[in-house]
Amino acid sequence: MRPSSPESDDASLVVLGAGYAGVRLAREVARRSKGQLPVVLVDRHPVHVIRTELYEIGAIAQEQGAPLRLAVPIDRVLRSSGVKFRTGRVEGIDLADRTVKLADGALRYRYLAICLGSAIAYYGVPGALENTHQVYRLTGALMLAQALKSVESASAGWPIGRRPQVLVVGGGSTGTEVAAEIATTDWAEVSGGSARPPHVTLIAGAVPFLAGLPEGLVRHARELLAKAEVELSEGINVTRVDPGRLSLHDGSSREFDVAVWCAGVQAPPVVRALEVPHGKAGRLKVRETLELPDHPEVFAVGDVAEFEDPKTRMLVPATAQAALAEASVAAANLVRRAAGEPLRPFVYREKGMIVAVGRRRASGSLRRVTVWGSPAALLKRLTEREYSAAVRLGRSPPGL
Ligand SMILES: Cc1cc2nc3c(=O)[nH]c(=O)nc-3n(C[C@H](O)[C@H](O)[C@H](O)COP(=O)(O)OP(=O)(O)OC[C@H]3O[C@@H](n4cnc5c(N)ncnc54)[C@H](O)[C@@H]3O)c2cc1C
Repeated sequence: MRPSSPESDDASLVVLGAGYAGVRLAREVARRSKGQLPVVLVDRHPVHVIRTELYEIGAIAQEQGAPLRLAVPIDRVLRSSGVKFRTGRVEGIDLADRTVKLADGALRYRYLAICLGSAIAYYGVPGALENTHQVYRLTGALMLAQALKSVESASAGWPIGRRPQVLVVGGGSTGTEVAAEIATTDWAEVSGGSARPPHVTLIAGAVPFLAGLPEGLVRHARELLAKAEVELSEGINVTRVDPGRLSLHDGSSREFDVAVWCAGVQAPPVVRALEVPHGKAGRLKVRETLELPDHPEVFAVGDVAEFEDPKTRMLVPATAQAALAEASVAAANLVRRAAGEPLRPFVYREKGMIVAVGRRRASGSLRRVTVWGSPAALLKRLTEREYSAAVRLGRSPPGL
């Protein structure tokens, strides 16, 4: 790949992806370098999506049109930061030629930060892509909200006793949040008329429910799911999805009106295509200082990166919280690299984790203390709202 006329020959730093990692990194490099390191931020959409709130399907369904609170215009997010923005779909990265190929041009870089997030993973399950909804992207969440609204409206005229059947695949935090949100939404209020409450099943599959999260959090999440009347199916993987029918590994099948795929994510195709060391799900292995092993000029941050804690040998989770923490260290290291100074290692300290289980309940663990119920839900909401208020006002985004 050798583009004929690359733009911005002088773009010192090109940041790919205006998500949690990209926005914080771009802003911090501009601030720390006092404009000495020109920064160009690239994304396929001119908005910053508040991805951590896309599970709020009931609230999204209630709002008319695209909810602006979940897609903040990028010029607001970057206000007074000195960062330039370029809309473009990244189609390739030539590490040897230091060029990024966009759908409508190319960009040369001196330094590169890859912050392209995750893409949904269907693990080769036939029909999953075609017959399920998803919440990893804003358009996916909007389409799911619309589908639920339509089914709920139609349910008013169904035979007595029939309720909308909703299947949510994936027993991680996203699946749990989506299932409980759908089950605890007042659909009669959202759709009007006498919509029937849906019967929601969370199909956790063969991976343990909320794997990797603290025991207390998982225990309370189970209790809250039961209270929300979400049926939890564990231990059996999905083998196939046909329109209106989902098949399981034990030969059984379940009918559905709406199915949602929350079973996992992987690195985006453009990242998986790079000929560098990859970790799980195609993520980019990074050094302790967050650059690619043989490319000191390229940093990978957020969901695209696989960072192994050198002390515990544990992988840093693919969360917005970790993406933001990594972005600050990568930004400082980029400025140090440009100044010829030694880099500092990234050390991950998790603040905690809160999983929403229904519209007014949550289960969490903060520095080994379990919090749950409405106080946990309030805490989660406050942290999320603090983040989105800051980005909307063009302030440096706080941690999550
Ligand atoms: C429903 C849901 C709830 C969640 N809840 C939490 C939570 O409570 N706490 C938490 O810490 N984490 C949570 N997460 C995880 C969190 O959202 C991700 O870990 C976080 O978004 C990762 O940040 P990132 O910057 O790496 O990627 P992203 O925020 O996904 O940003 C990636 C950016 O790259 C852009 N992009 C991708 N491909 C291309 C391309 N080819 N060309 C141009 N642009 C491209 C995208 O448009 C996007 O703007 C949740 C995720 C979901 C889906």
